[in-house]
Amino acid sequence: MNRESERRPCPVCNQRDAEEFWGKEALQLVRCRCAMVFADPVAEEFASGAFYHERRFYLSASKLESDYAPVRFERELRLFRAWCPAGAVLDVGCSTGAFLHQLKTRHAGAYDMLGLDVPGPALDYAETKGVPVRREAFLEIDSAERQFDAVTFWAVMEHLAEPGRFLQKAAQVLKPGGHCFMLTPNLRSLAVRLLGPRYRYIMPEHLNYFTAATLKDFARRQQDLEMVDCGSMHFNPLVIWQDFWSRQPSVPDEQRARLLQRTTAWKQSPWLAPLKAFYSGVERMLGSMNLADNIFVVLRRRSSH
Ligand SMILES: [Zn+2]
Repeated sequence: MNRESERRPCPVCNQRDAEEFWGKEALQLVRCRCAMVFADPVAEEFASGAFYHERRFYLSASKLESDYAPVRFERELRLFRAWCPAGAVLDVGCSTGAFLHQLKTRHAGAYDMLGLDVPGPALDYAETKGVPVRREAFLEIDSAERQFDAVTFWAVMEHLAEPGRFLQKAAQVLKPGGHCFMLTPNLRSLAVRLLGPRYRYIMPEHLNYFTAATLKDFARRQQDLEMVDCGSMHFNPLVIWQDFWSRQPSVPDEQRARLLQRTTAWKQSPWLAPLKAFYSGVERMLGSMNLADNIFVVLRRRSSH
């Protein structure tokens, strides 16, 4: 058997000659000549999305409480509103619908929205919150039937075996001048620099590990889209602290959700207001240096081909 053909092509440049990078339990990461780091091989349950069908993690009380807290999508909303003040929005990988729910409750009437995800309990939950969803694969939706002013991928690209096909599809379903938002963990964040593979978000369901440079490279290859904004946001020092002292290689779901819940509670506590100003300053500084936990790009659909 030809080993070469079995290898996963680089999700950015499609080459198949990546070198070993990091290993963490069952996860093997490789680094392409173009600098992209990705998982190879990819277990079937992640490639097919079957892993997410019955996943209860997104429905645990602490995960829901943190996702549905008003502060959870604060930064994403600010970015989103700056580029898309109204219109038709498609949230790909909407999970329990928290982002669209925020959009709906804070800006009632401004948006016509739709969420897509792997069918399962998370999507059912989104529906109970009044978020319109469809149980349809994004790659299979009919782009002639409906066009959008915005397509969002909040923490989605890292989960996809073929992210390039999703970005291409986004370009097809966007109206000319419409915007695509991608946010994904930053492989060059302060947290990864300090912790290396011990960082909790280096995990089996994350298949792609972008940096600011490789995310831009990835975006530029989609010629129907032009980049209009990029940057780095979010900083969770508690995660660094916990992972630094942790003796276990991976963090159980429930523990991860509980920490997010605690962080969210602190962000909302009036007692911590003075600390918050300092924290925001640190986050802004890390963001400006591309050292924050996540990186993002905003792309605009070109008006002519
Ligand atoms: Zn590559």
